Amino acid sequence: MNRYKDEFVSLASHELRTPLTTVKAYLQLLERAYANEEVGLNFTKKAIEGVYRLERLINDLLDISKIKIGQLDYNMAPIKSAEIIKNSVENLKYYSDTHEIIIKELADVTLMGDSVRLEQVLNNFLSNAIKYSPDANRVELDARQEGNNLIVSVQDFGIGIPEESIEHLVERYYRADNGAEVSSGLGIGLYLSQQILTEHKGKLLIESHINQGSTFQFVLPVYKS
Ligand code: ADP
Repeated sequence: MNRYKDEFVSLASHELRTPLTTVKAYLQLLERAYANEEVGLNFTKKAIEGVYRLERLINDLLDISKIKIGQLDYNMAPIKSAEIIKNSVENLKYYSDTHEIIIKELADVTLMGDSVRLEQVLNNFLSNAIKYSPDANRVELDARQEGNNLIVSVQDFGIGIPEESIEHLVERYYRADNGAEVSSGLGIGLYLSQQILTEHKGKLLIESHINQGSTFQFVLPVYKS
């Protein structure tokens, strides 16, 4: 029975994606058409933000059903870290314009990995950093090489996470009490991130202080400096 449920979720999310892609494309055209009209442009931007959130939720649902039926596949190839980071930061502009993302250091090493999946991890870190720091206006990103590892950190100045919750964050569907108050979500993003990083022989590290903020890090082996 569960398998049918997972296959249904997989099929349904896949079908939902097609009309959403059309809506997104037309909204992007509208954004251009309204370039010189403030009110129209603002409304369109809000609609685009909503569509991006919806798209991410649908993709996460699709991924989680794929993991359950053992179908999440990876296209491993040599990839440059700076490109992944720049793409994610660029993508975030559509998600929200309330925070500035400050890149402190941008190490550019070659990794062996799936660029789409690694961008997904970084998108998740960045969008959470924004989502869970509603009163802040910046997020800091730092990518540096240490020995044979690339360490990418995303630091926010937000609500923080209760200490006892930290170890549970990567569990499927887990949401800490702090998060539920601030924003809606399914509690899937970090679970997927952890799965993706494990597949890349990497690690996910979390440090956080209540009302001060959180730092999410991933550590990945460098393929070539
Ligand atoms: P979602 O954001 O949809 O709940 P995630 O798996 O991405 O799912 O995150 C799981 C939980 O981890 C969140 O519900 C929240 O409680 C906590 N969390 C994640 N990132 C942050 C952050 N930057 N600051 C505070 N809490 C966070």
